[in-house]
Amino acid sequence: MTSLSDLPLRDDLRGKSPYGAPQKVVPVALNVNENTHPIPEDVAGDIVAAVAKAIQGVNRYPDREFVELRESLAGYLGHGLTAANIWAANGSNEVIQQILQAFGGPGRSLLGFAPTYSMYSILASGTGTAWIPAARDADFELSPETAAAEIRRADPDIVVLCSPNNPTGTPLPLETIVAAYDAARGMVIVDEAYAEFMPSDQPSALTLLPGRERLMVSRTMSKAFAFAGARVGYLAADPAVTDALRLVRLPYHLSALTQAAAVAALAHSGEMLAMVDEIKGQRDRLVRELATLGYPPHRTGSNFVLFGGVDDPHATFEALLEQGVLIRDVGIPGHLRVTAGTEAETTAFLGALAALKSQS
Ligand SMILES: *Cc1c(COP(=O)(O)O)cnc(C)c1O
Repeated sequence: MTSLSDLPLRDDLRGKSPYGAPQKVVPVALNVNENTHPIPEDVAGDIVAAVAKAIQGVNRYPDREFVELRESLAGYLGHGLTAANIWAANGSNEVIQQILQAFGGPGRSLLGFAPTYSMYSILASGTGTAWIPAARDADFELSPETAAAEIRRADPDIVVLCSPNNPTGTPLPLETIVAAYDAARGMVIVDEAYAEFMPSDQPSALTLLPGRERLMVSRTMSKAFAFAGARVGYLAADPAVTDALRLVRLPYHLSALTQAAAVAALAHSGEMLAMVDEIKGQRDRLVRELATLGYPPHRTGSNFVLFGGVDDPHATFEALLEQGVLIRDVGIPGHLRVTAGTEAETTAFLGALAALKSQS
């Protein structure tokens, strides 16, 4: 038995911490923005049947080009996209890692607007890419002017725009994405992990793809699609981008079981997404009731809410956990983040928080 510091680890990984959202078994887990509704039973039955069929062929390697899955994803996204525009991997985290392997790496840089998704800096460090945290405007908003100025100042190789942004919930106007793209010399990722929770009249960055060959829009089945445990993320981009990712992906990176499960789930996208409106309703309720309780919520287009007015986030986090309610301390002073759950889970959280408030 030895310790990490005794191993000949890469110098640039010394002292780093792994991703570590707590995984605790609690009655009410609202900490990692999952869809807390289980998938409908009839859909689950179809997925099991598809996986059962696929397992009869697992003596052979899976379709390395996952053509059927790419066709299903293109059909789901619409916007005139075809399989040639689509790439997928084991979660959008892996998609982003592959982007960094292909377009980043030693001597290159990734710029994102902090505070933002904690995995960007971790994936950058794993691929030897320099991470550049750039500044936002007040209230975590990001105007076209600020985005363009920060990108021109730092001149990164890759820009990642998270919209809606995790952990703040902030959606980006399309004008900001266009300004960032025009200011950037390199590749631009728009991470739309929470796109399905946006107001339905708000256009996706997918509408910006035609004519912009350096733009990539990543999505995931982990959030709205209630498929976090299956590990399926994907992106839409110019077909040349998927050719770049083929250079770095592991051969057969998407297992036959994953491909079968995802295709079966996508055939029921309507049912899989049936809970999205319900979740948006609970999110809006969180926004209203947190404000009433004296915890100012930030503007959100996602399935979670970042709220301020917390004197001691760590103490509040621990006190809620004692009541069986797990939320997230994202390290923003005076703030905590909570995922919109089922009506009962959301009620449990709001009740526990109100009880704490009345004690203090
Ligand atoms: C949850 C999340 C993802 C999803 O990651 P997967 O690997 O697809 O599960 C991607 N980006 C952001 C900003 C997220 O919050």
